[in-house]
Amino acid sequence: MLNKINIAIDGLSSTGKSSLAKALAKELGYIYIDSGAMYRAVAYFFLENKIQISKDNQDLDKELAQVRLKFVNQRMRLNNIDIEDAIRTMRISNVVSEVAALPVVRDFCVKQQQAFGIDKGVVMDGRDIGTVVFPQAELKIFLYASQEIRVQRRYDELQAKGAGVSKEDVETNLLHRDRIDSTREYNPLKKAEDARELDNSQLDIPGQIELIKSWIINLTA
Ligand code: C5P
Repeated sequence: MLNKINIAIDGLSSTGKSSLAKALAKELGYIYIDSGAMYRAVAYFFLENKIQISKDNQDLDKELAQVRLKFVNQRMRLNNIDIEDAIRTMRISNVVSEVAALPVVRDFCVKQQQAFGIDKGVVMDGRDIGTVVFPQAELKIFLYASQEIRVQRRYDELQAKGAGVSKEDVETNLLHRDRIDSTREYNPLKKAEDARELDNSQLDIPGQIELIKSWIINLTA
């Protein structure tokens, strides 16, 4: 039996990180953690409680002390209430990157994300997993997909959920988040120097998993 490792998957929005991470965790018998869901949950909490989203808000620490995040069957719970469906809406997508750019929010989430990885055997996807959350992860992957494919994927996902959004709105939101996530001062989206690049524009999930398993075998050989 091979020793368990931590696997960090980063990349721009809708590059297929979550679908890959979920399938990979299942294949390996690992735990999957969707770090973006945690930022979405905090954004949801801020909106619901009309909390000012600004680094000038001196009360953010105090507000965050009211936030309990938990995954149950891979669904996000906030203070023990299932908010998984609510955090996937455009209402949250439109503000989440502003929330995630706040250093207090990042520190709050990163600390919990790091705790998930203590015993290894975690696949976590996000923007700063290979650089900040698990800089020692045994395997780091940076995912790419063409912009056209990213927009189509996110659009199909929202359509399947019955959300009446246009492709233009989806594209605008993706580019907006890409810009904020890549240019924020604190822990921006960045490829870790030792991350392996994977463009999945033309590669399905089984194909990606096959490739990653070959990387894992080489790691532990
Ligand atoms: O992964 P997902 O697209 O659901 O993430 C939502 C948002 O959360 C991202 O656009 C980004 O602003 C933020 N995020 C982050 N760092 C992570 C994961 C997500 O800043 N590790």
